[in-house]
Amino acid sequence: MNNNKFNPLELPSGKKRLLLHSCCAPCSGDIMYKLKESNIDFTVYFYNPNIHPHEEYVLRKEENKVFAKKNNIPFIDADYDPRNWFTLTKGMEMEPERGKRCSVCFDMRFIKTAEYAIDHGFDAISSTLGISRWKDMEQINKSGDYAASKFTNLIYWKYNWRKENGSHRMIEVSKQEKFYMQEYCGCVYSLRDTNEWRVKNNRSKIEIGKNYYSYLDKKTTNN
Ligand code: SF4
Repeated sequence: MNNNKFNPLELPSGKKRLLLHSCCAPCSGDIMYKLKESNIDFTVYFYNPNIHPHEEYVLRKEENKVFAKKNNIPFIDADYDPRNWFTLTKGMEMEPERGKRCSVCFDMRFIKTAEYAIDHGFDAISSTLGISRWKDMEQINKSGDYAASKFTNLIYWKYNWRKENGSHRMIEVSKQEKFYMQEYCGCVYSLRDTNEWRVKNNRSKIEIGKNYYSYLDKKTTNN
């Protein structure tokens, strides 16, 4: 349940059906509540072949799926095709986060979302990726526009999900739902770089599947 007061949302340009690309349950939780309470016709589309290893991918996906089911929100479990992701990002292994590799990663996910949208009667796409303060919103919006521009009658909805207390609510919903707390962006290179940073800062390396948002047992998190 969403206890947050917010102004109801509306799809722009008279659009009727939204396909919402989701990266994970924590980023999408409050957004899904807001869309539902605004009576927007939407479906969640989980396509994230960037996530590594597979165990982490399954954790993030299943949690998002369970939350959607609990709230009667349609959820599309798209392909996990990491080989394509590795092919597209070849040569960009050492790029920093928010660099060129991330643009390719966003493009790949948004183009697939746009293709599914066109094939299944959606006229707008958007993504939960931009709610994270670790991400470059301009970079994400650029990829979203690029993907939608490949098709007529499809728009990328550039809504700033951080608005209306979005960033704060994202954490609150994650705590209420005791979501899994991922500690790196997703790909093998972000895992490598985050671990390198942690070791330099005398912190232990990431343990997949260990940390959860929780009100009840703060000891389960070390972030
Ligand atoms: S750091 Fe994140 S956005 Fe960038 S390439 Fe890796 S998974 Fe994709």
